[in-house]
Amino acid sequence: EKTPVTLLGLGAMGTALARTWLAAGHPLTVWNRTAARAEALAPEGATVARTAADAVAANSLIVVCLLDDSSVDEALAGVDLTGKDVVNLITSTPEQARARAVWARERGARYLDGGIMAIPTMIGVPEAGGYVFYSGSQDLYEEHREVLSVPAGATFVGADAGFAALHDVALLSAMYGMFGGIAHAFALIRKEDIDPASLAPLLADWLGAMAPSVHQTAQHLNSGDYTADVDSNLAMQVASTHTLLDTAAQQGVSPELIAPYFALMRRRLDVGSGEEGTTGVVDELLAG
Ligand code: NDP
Repeated sequence: EKTPVTLLGLGAMGTALARTWLAAGHPLTVWNRTAARAEALAPEGATVARTAADAVAANSLIVVCLLDDSSVDEALAGVDLTGKDVVNLITSTPEQARARAVWARERGARYLDGGIMAIPTMIGVPEAGGYVFYSGSQDLYEEHREVLSVPAGATFVGADAGFAALHDVALLSAMYGMFGGIAHAFALIRKEDIDPASLAPLLADWLGAMAPSVHQTAQHLNSGDYTADVDSNLAMQVASTHTLLDTAAQQGVSPELIAPYFALMRRRLDVGSGEEGTTGVVDELLAG
């Protein structure tokens, strides 16, 4: 007997989620503000609810995949959530998630927040490696882990409802830092007779080779010793930033993406040890 699911919100992501539950044989009740998107799933076996209240009443597991936090207030205003298990997959800030957890508890529901680390085309495709961070009610998570794992992998990161959002944003923030470095690298070669397609695999391999440095950073933060097993010390790295900035100037490339990171490295060198790696930049960011 497969757990029945109610899904609110059939945008690009909601529709992708819905199809995986239908394909896996879970009875699915759907509601969407624009009814046509819900009707489209009826031929695939979904039960279409006329209102959000009807959809919520149909099952105890309620998955929410609306646009943003405020659309939850609009869609669920006055809807009885007593005894429901609410799983909110909307991208939000940790504070919004924590407030939503209180909101759900006040309405008699258990609450699990989710941060989706996937795009719709990765949903239902295990090889694509997408997954969802979950935080909040561990009981809810354990009880529904199987049904929650149908669309994508599931990773529980803590009882604090804000932690899924925080992990989501941490990964995305690191990704944008990487995108910034990639943009700078392509800009450096742009005026030369160098095929971007020949640089691309070199970049991808280099970034892959550097990525495991995250483990050393974590060890440093845990031990407080930022010099342990450092290969490239901060003094050497700061000295070499001149070469990188001068090269950018020679190639007519704005240093605006990399200069802020270099400035933080220099600030750390001023207060820390030249024998450290770059872990101290974390402290500089927190020092504001
Ligand atoms: P879409 O823009 O495709 O869909 C938005 C959905 O929200 C629609 O069902 C829309 O209804 C509904 N909606 C918007 N405002 C309201 C409202 N005021 N009241 C009721 N319903 C409303 O977004 P996605 O499906 O792509 O994204 C849904 C969530 O998933 C977002 O929080 C997003 O951040 C998150 N997410 C999306 C990813 C992606 O790559 N797409 C990746 C990771 C997370 P209607 O059809 O009536 O307009």
